[in-house]
Amino acid sequence: MDLEFDRQHIWHPYTSTTNPLTCYPVESASGVTLTLENGTNLIDGMSSWWATIHGYNHPVLNDALHAQTQKMAHVMFGGITHQPAIDLCKSLIELTPDNLQHVFLADSGSVAVEVSLKMALQYWHARGESRPKFLTLSHGYHGDTFAAMSVTDPNNSMHSLYKGFLPEHIFATSPTCGFWDEWQENDIMDFANKLRCHHQEIAAVILEPIVQGAGGMRLYNPMYLQRVRELCDDYGVLLIADEIATGFGRTGKLFACEHANIKPDILCVGKALTGGYMTLSATLTSKHVADTVCGGEAGCFMHGPTFMANPLACAVANASLNLIKTGEWQTQTRDIQRWFAQYLPKLKESTRVKDVRWLGAIGVVETHIPVRMDTIQQHFVDRGVWIRPFGRLIYMMPPFISNEANIAQLVNAIESALLRDDCFAS
Ligand SMILES: *Cc1c(COP(=O)(O)O)cnc(C)c1O
Repeated sequence: MDLEFDRQHIWHPYTSTTNPLTCYPVESASGVTLTLENGTNLIDGMSSWWATIHGYNHPVLNDALHAQTQKMAHVMFGGITHQPAIDLCKSLIELTPDNLQHVFLADSGSVAVEVSLKMALQYWHARGESRPKFLTLSHGYHGDTFAAMSVTDPNNSMHSLYKGFLPEHIFATSPTCGFWDEWQENDIMDFANKLRCHHQEIAAVILEPIVQGAGGMRLYNPMYLQRVRELCDDYGVLLIADEIATGFGRTGKLFACEHANIKPDILCVGKALTGGYMTLSATLTSKHVADTVCGGEAGCFMHGPTFMANPLACAVANASLNLIKTGEWQTQTRDIQRWFAQYLPKLKESTRVKDVRWLGAIGVVETHIPVRMDTIQQHFVDRGVWIRPFGRLIYMMPPFISNEANIAQLVNAIESALLRDDCFAS
């Protein structure tokens, strides 16, 4: 592959044109393995950012995609409907909490978040109230488009760069009580205070339930989420759950909200929705919210992407959800959680390590100082694994089909990186 052209002309996520790192050329991928152009096999520890839950090149997903190409690759969704979309929305309504009865299909996670915020704003507008603010958590991540960025941690997403353009919302201190810790009631204090002071201007609370992903890989206590739901009910504020990273089994429950037994008013899903094959997302809401939105001045919900409900994406999502419905993900994620619990604690012996944590098919090693991306990435490739850390976080979210040897290899690669000075900033 022409890596020099790639370096000189192609932007990869969050990369520089003046100081680009060379990318690794992947030729193919199958099961839990990525194969580089030179034939090197890497055990995947990332599921291509939470998405490839059933593994790569899956025969069932491939067949679904092939079959749909023989019918139609795409057709507009305005005034037209099709079986793949109907099947998908039926499954989503069946799998998610029973209050969620209306589905909006969009192209990416960030757009699903934009849609959820617009729903909340239109809801209050229709009720004749001006509520221009959202309440969210520090260390949160909700996407890279403007509204999604405005509810993402201001420091991580460098809000100061966009000052004057980005709306300013309200951030509560993120939970400090971990998933497995004993619940401390004062953890919810800041959130409760902010909601009490500002509730009349707040359209909705938006958060990532249980796992804060790209903003810090923090796993928090289900009681926090329960309290958030109670407080939203007390003050009559909508709750948006962004399950784009956590949805479809990643945390050991089908949706992370189930850890706290709560139902959001609006739910965003994406990433693993198509088993990692194509970009597709969905925003679900209740009949009450949907009907209120549509009873307002506009008379409808004001959004409609060109590629809404793309049939290929819907078809492969249906195949992925059918695999989910077999329930196999439950034993798979339980096993992976057990292996993380077995292998990760010993990494704490390294003086480089600040914390290790895990939940479902998520394993995190937090270091005291940031990694050096070029050297640690090469180290992982030399060790036959694909792990892509950021900052002080080395984390794994492997495909659900990973076996114990795969997990051991991922953890061993991290353990050996911890011994190398050149893998860390000095
Ligand atoms: C990845 C992510 C998004 C954004 O999804 P994209 O498909 O990258 O736009 C939003 N919210 C959460 C929690 C995510 O992890």
